[in-house]
Amino acid sequence: MTNGIVNGSTGLENSFASLGINGQKSAYVPPHLRSQQRAASTPVVPTNGNGWNDSRSSTPSRGGLSSGRGGLDRGGGSSFSRGGGGWGGDRPQSGGGVYSNDKRERGGDGPKETFGYGTWKDGQHIPGGRNMRMEKELYGDLNDPSKQQTGINFEKYDDIPVEANGAGVPEPVTAFTNPPLDPVLLENIGYAHYTTPTPVQKYSIPIVAESRDLMACAQTGSGKTGGFLFPILSASFKTGPLAPPAEAQNGGYGRSRKAYPTALILAPTRELVSQIHEEARKFCYRSWVRPAVVYGGADINQQIRQAERGCDLLSATPGRLVDLIERGRISLANIRYLVLDEADRMLDMGFEPQIRRIVQGEDMPGTQDRQTLMFSATFPRDIQVLARDFMKDYVFLSVGRVGSTSENITQKIEYVEDPDKRSVLLDILSAQDEGGLTLVFVETKRMADMLSDFLYTNRIAATSIHGDRSQRERETALQTFRTGRTPVLVATAVAARGLDIPNVTHVINYDLPSDIDDYVHRIGRTGRAGNVGISTAFFNRGNKNIVRDLIELLREANQDTPAWLETVAQESSFGASYGRGRGGRGGRGGGRSTSTRDYRTGGGGFGGSRGGGGGGGGGGAGAGGPQYGGYGGGGYSNGGSGGNGWW
Ligand code: AMP
Repeated sequence: MTNGIVNGSTGLENSFASLGINGQKSAYVPPHLRSQQRAASTPVVPTNGNGWNDSRSSTPSRGGLSSGRGGLDRGGGSSFSRGGGGWGGDRPQSGGGVYSNDKRERGGDGPKETFGYGTWKDGQHIPGGRNMRMEKELYGDLNDPSKQQTGINFEKYDDIPVEANGAGVPEPVTAFTNPPLDPVLLENIGYAHYTTPTPVQKYSIPIVAESRDLMACAQTGSGKTGGFLFPILSASFKTGPLAPPAEAQNGGYGRSRKAYPTALILAPTRELVSQIHEEARKFCYRSWVRPAVVYGGADINQQIRQAERGCDLLSATPGRLVDLIERGRISLANIRYLVLDEADRMLDMGFEPQIRRIVQGEDMPGTQDRQTLMFSATFPRDIQVLARDFMKDYVFLSVGRVGSTSENITQKIEYVEDPDKRSVLLDILSAQDEGGLTLVFVETKRMADMLSDFLYTNRIAATSIHGDRSQRERETALQTFRTGRTPVLVATAVAARGLDIPNVTHVINYDLPSDIDDYVHRIGRTGRAGNVGISTAFFNRGNKNIVRDLIELLREANQDTPAWLETVAQESSFGASYGRGRGGRGGRGGGRSTSTRDYRTGGGGFGGSRGGGGGGGGGGAGAGGPQYGGYGGGGYSNGGSGGNGWW
């Protein structure tokens, strides 16, 4: 097998060969694109002779609508070469013309080639030409390593333990290659500097390529987004779009302007769907697939207009999607891939009725006629029920948590009484080196605001994110944090959940959570994928309920446990019941809802949410036991690092 990262120029030559153009044909190139054309040395020409005459292709960005991100964009999303700016919302309008094998072409304009956008024509994928400006926006400045968008220590991904269960689990891949991945996708993966698949990707790529359903227990940080995007996009690039259903054809597709996505990704929060959409934009580049995103709290009309412009791979929060379905703007009749991301979180947030309606109560093809992939940090009973109802004969993947309790994170516990917290925080922030990002977790929205104001008045560039801030404020806060303009972000746990911010160097639990799993999740925001990080927790006697689990966790990760913490633990155990029914680390999952193992199998698995090699024996019970029958396992494990504290 070859290293599948296709050299950019070769890919380009191929693209142009398939376009049947070699620069001889003269075509109008709008002024704002000429410099790019020179930069790319790519004679991108419309195939149908009218593409560049189309006003949309030659009109500079309109901002506003743009971006396919509902206006949450950097600079109004106007950085792309075509009208509309953002990628998600950029399918040329006017009855389409981008798919040439479906009715959209009847809109009259025919296919329009533009830099960065591909088409599907006569049963063939015709990748668009390169667009340097778009590449810079999507992947960072390839000529300037400091502006590249990745700070990840790729090799360390191999440490993440994975176990796969199910009948006939396909063998994992070891590299990004063609086959099984499409060459255009491989080029995009190369632009994104992803050199090797993460463990979850190694498994998910062949599993999905072989048309299997997938249930994966994996957290943010494991590369799970690529884990579902890569195989879905690769297959989509190869097979092309589906024709709109009869309903659309009879009703006149061009006029009804209903979107018929082929892939749907449901996730709980707007931040998460935006993040998924951003990742999708990277990998849809130059292909026929137009990603789109919809979520609550933003202008619905803008999202409707965006969906009209292109909506092949849709990332959505459940509530907003139901709204758009009710308005007749989105149909699920063409869905071939359904992804439920952070499924446990969606259920926690009360989305089950909407999810069931979307999956079972509308026009989505049934389980046999689509592929369903579900990702969830945990696999409690209600998720098992969802898996049973939505999926067919799925492969179960259990993926270790990235960096969470590993030795990559130095965990410090400070005894700080509540009234002293502010000044201790100030001391810590003032003393630390510049350059890193610090995430500070607090319990309440009010505290998040108060604390960021306090820091700000003490000359520390801080901002906050919590549920009461407007959509735009949250986006701005994240953006300024990511770019380091406000290197301190004060956050409530809910708002910060699932966010992928690669270079957080310090996580401070200003207020400790009452659940150890939340603690693990929070500190997992740093030390990502092998990079080192620091976690500091402010502890006082108000946090007694977490003390035992904390000590156990510190021991597992080979961290120093302060003597005073042991004392507090002894105080709190005196007269108190042990409470959580733990039988050592391996039994941690027992009786809890955080099992990450396949309930269909009788044993094995990674135990509970942590404690890896400690023994699968304890893990399963909490998930309700093997209620739905199942089979005797089989499958692979990459060995991972077992009980080394990844969990
Ligand atoms: P996720 O778990 O999907 O949120 O991904 C975590 C981080 O890993 C994101 O910043 C991704 O961009 C990055 N990532 C995903 N896959 C790879 C890969 N194969 N190589 C390097 N980085 C990756």
